This record gives sequence, C-alpha cells and structure tokens, in this order.
Amino acid sequence: STGTRPTGTRTTTGTLSTGALSTVRNLGILAHVDAGKTTVTERILYLAGATHKRGEVHHGTTVTDFDPQERDRGITIFAAAVSCDWDGHRINLIDTPGHVDFSDEVERSLRVLDGAVAVFDAVAGVEPQSESVWRKADRHGVPRIAFVNKLDRAGADLDSAVGSIRRRLHPAPLVVQLPIGQEDGFTGVVDLLRMRALTWADGQGGAVEGPVPAELAEEARRRRRLLEEAVAELHPGALEEFCEHSALSAATLATALRDLTRTGEGLVVLCGSAYRNRGIEPLLAAVVAYLPSPLDVPPVRGTHGGGEQRRAADPAAPFAALVFKVNSTATGRLTYLRVYSGTIEKGAAVLDAGARRTERISRILRVQADRHTEVDRAVAGDIVAVIGPKAARAGATLCLPAAPLLLEPPSVADPVVSVA
Ligand code: GDP
Repeated sequence: STGTRPTGTRTTTGTLSTGALSTVRNLGILAHVDAGKTTVTERILYLAGATHKRGEVHHGTTVTDFDPQERDRGITIFAAAVSCDWDGHRINLIDTPGHVDFSDEVERSLRVLDGAVAVFDAVAGVEPQSESVWRKADRHGVPRIAFVNKLDRAGADLDSAVGSIRRRLHPAPLVVQLPIGQEDGFTGVVDLLRMRALTWADGQGGAVEGPVPAELAEEARRRRRLLEEAVAELHPGALEEFCEHSALSAATLATALRDLTRTGEGLVVLCGSAYRNRGIEPLLAAVVAYLPSPLDVPPVRGTHGGGEQRRAADPAAPFAALVFKVNSTATGRLTYLRVYSGTIEKGAAVLDAGARRTERISRILRVQADRHTEVDRAVAGDIVAVIGPKAARAGATLCLPAAPLLLEPPSVADPVVSVA
C-alpha cells in the first residue's frame, strides 16, 4: 500500500457560489511520456497542500497514479481528477493520458478541460507525441500555456526548445521568463513581467523573490523588450500603448497575455525543473492569470429532440453533466462528472440521456490527493465524482429528467476499470 490513495471521507456542506466560479480552473497537463507530467502534477499537489506525503515517481507513490498496473508500466493510463486549492483558487487537475494507446481517454479528458499546461522536455523539445496531443487540444479549442521542464538536465536549452515549439506547434511563443543559471546550476528565473528574480534553494523551500542579478540585467531587459514587441504585434490594445509609450507596462502585458492565451493567438512559455521543485509557483500563478475559468468558456452545446441547445455555466439552469471517467474503487463505483449547467444535489434522480435510464446520485465526492471529501451539491463548472449511477459510462450525459439534453452521442463500450 502506498498510503496515498484516498482513505477517509469527510463531509462538508461547502460548495461554490456563482461568484466563486471565476476562481475555478479545470486544468489538464499535456505531455509526451517522460516529459515530466507526473512530476509536475505531483509538485502542484504538494504545493497546493493537497497532499502531505511526498511521493516520488520512481518509488511508485505518486498521488495521481492510482492503479498498480499503471505504476508498473510507468505511464499514466487512467484519467482521474484531483482537486486542490491554491491562492484562493480551486484547481481541478484532470489527468490526461500521455500515451497514444489511450487516445479515446485523451479526447474525453480534453472535452472537460478549460485549459491546459503543455509540458516539454528542455533537452528533447517537441517530440512526435507532444505534437499529436497538441493537435487534439487544437481541435477541442483548449487554451494552453507551455512549461519547458527539466532545465536542470545536461544539454537543457530553453531557446532551442522554444524554437522547436515555434516551428512545430505555435508560431507565437511568448517567453515570459529568463532562466538563471544552466543545467546543474539552474537556480531560478527572472519574471520578465515584474522584472524580479525568483530563486529556489535546494530542498523544499519555496520561491525567494529578489532583484534581477546584475549579470543578467541587460539580457533580461533585452528579452522583456522582445516580449513587448511580440505582444504588441498580436494584441491591438497593447499595440496602442506600445505606439504611444514605446513600452508596455506589466499590467498591459498581463492582460494581453491572458487575451492571447484564451484566443490561442499567443503561447505563454514558462520554464523550470519540476524534479527540483523550481518554477512551479510561477506556473500556478500563470494558470490562474491566463487560463480561463468555467465562466470564460462558451456555453456547451447539446441536442434535444433533433434541436440544438446551448447551456451556459449557470448554477440556476437545468442540470447537465458529462461523464468522463468511471472507476471502480474501494469507495465504490466512482463516476467522474464535469457539470456544465445547473446544480446537482445529493439524492437527486438524473437521466442518462443517451441510454434513457434514470440513475440516482447517492453521494457527491471531491477527490483530493489523499482523501475524498463528501459534498452536498456541485454546481456548473465544477468537476466531482459521484457514487450511485450503476450503468452510466464515460461519454454519457446526465441531466435533469425534466430538461433532457444530450451532450455527446453515447460512446462505444468503455469497460469499467477496477482499481481495487
Ligand atoms: P511523465 O511520463 O510525463 O509523467 O514523466 P514523469 O514525471 O514520470 O518523469 C519522467 C522522468 O523524468 C522521471 O524519471 C522523472 O524523475 C524525470 N523528471 C521529471 N521532471 C524532471 C526535471 O525537472 N528534471 C530532471 N532532471 N528530471 C525530471
């Protein structure tokens, strides 16, 4: 036993109000196998205080790797959603299989994400698999930021990794950090928006902020200038300010980077070393600053009686949710839902719109790294696991029986996996 699987269940009445929806990020981590997705996830959960036990990939105790088979194979097979809280935001991390063999799962995960971090290896740059997951994310319109990982490795080169991103994935990478030190000597980054240095000591200490090191000051100014020019070229508001002042403020840059991320016109690039725990705080800050909340994404589309319907992320609208994962666990048959509209309460009867079957929601769980927290309700925009549905499969729509809606045609048979 790893000791990291959810063990206890707590009950709380806590739920999200509409206002709080703006603080939710439904986030996926996309990567080529081995780029460091598991390590990045692990460090995020660690930082967000969602887990107090620190797992290492090679010890097989990583918190998102629930399944023994998965640990044995060293690849992430089963999508699972894990919630954590960071800086007043709830981050629901939706695990996305990095392996091409699990393509259906990738598609379903991408459907329920509002944004993603694409992780690259600073030595290998863009690899064939990163390209295929990237195209899928394009098709699903998932806004992304990039994290160039493993900057501590011998041969790591941010500029060449960014070059491969530019050539193969995105014409407008916008690098917002300058690394401090190289390879083994990689100790931190200069934040080019605030022109401040963030460094990490060895061990578990957090980021220490300070002035830009003198020897990097000129290079930092040069790169800040390049960033401003690139942003001004892409963003009308920024262009106006740039023409007027021949410079951009940090606030204008941040707003423009958020807009460009959400439209997909620009790709914010950060860097670090997940293994050394360097660069994770600024990555989370960028997730919160640039990637959309459920309120920022277009209403979901579905059909009813041959007609199309749109549902916004409104807790007062009729309930509709998509099942994106079903896992058999010691706690029971966990049905993972993305709630798109309305509110679901414990005890409710819902309709599986494709199968035309009624299911009961007997419990609603927020899955955290080391425990399940039971909640009374879940609202539009949120991701939870429910217990009660007996037959609903990945791809099914669960909705209010009085307001049926089909979010996706019933999917092909998707076996329930056992995670005893
Ligand atoms: P995944 O397959 O994308 O989930 O990648 P993992 O997180 O399992 O990482 C693959 C390997 O790379 C593991 O041996 C990690 O310890 C290692 N790794 C992950 N991040 C870093 C990093 O920042 N630097 C170095 N040097 N190794 C890393």
